[in-house]
Amino acid sequence: MVEQSIPLYWRTRQFRYRLMGTKCEKDGKVYFPPRKLCPECGEILNKTVLLPRTGKVVSYSVVHNGLSNREEELPYAVGLIELDDGTRVVGQIIGIPPENVSIGMRVKFAFRKYGAATNSAVIRYGYKFVPETYPNVNLS
Ligand SMILES: [Zn+2]
Repeated sequence: MVEQSIPLYWRTRQFRYRLMGTKCEKDGKVYFPPRKLCPECGEILNKTVLLPRTGKVVSYSVVHNGLSNREEELPYAVGLIELDDGTRVVGQIIGIPPENVSIGMRVKFAFRKYGAATNSAVIRYGYKFVPETYPNVNLS
């Protein structure tokens, strides 16, 4: 994943922390990452919506060479996930070996550490996906 600046990361954190998108009130389309304008009709998108936390793997790839701050995670799977409302999201699939990931596999949202930003002490968090049967982790 491309590393964002810390201010941009901070401004967009709610969308990654809770998996939120923007919805066009004119035609009902939902976008993630959030957009300011609907590419279909040009409407300004002011409405944010909480996206479903479950979906299925539409496509995936196994990453063998990655960013230097994520070397301990290699190899890992990154998938195109179709959420239950049809919104498509790209995210890392964890909790199982990458060779066990398959197309059509059911997955669910998991709030996890992304890793520390290069040259800073800021630790980034956001969403990843785990198999739907993976036990829930109580973060309280
Ligand atoms: Zn629209």
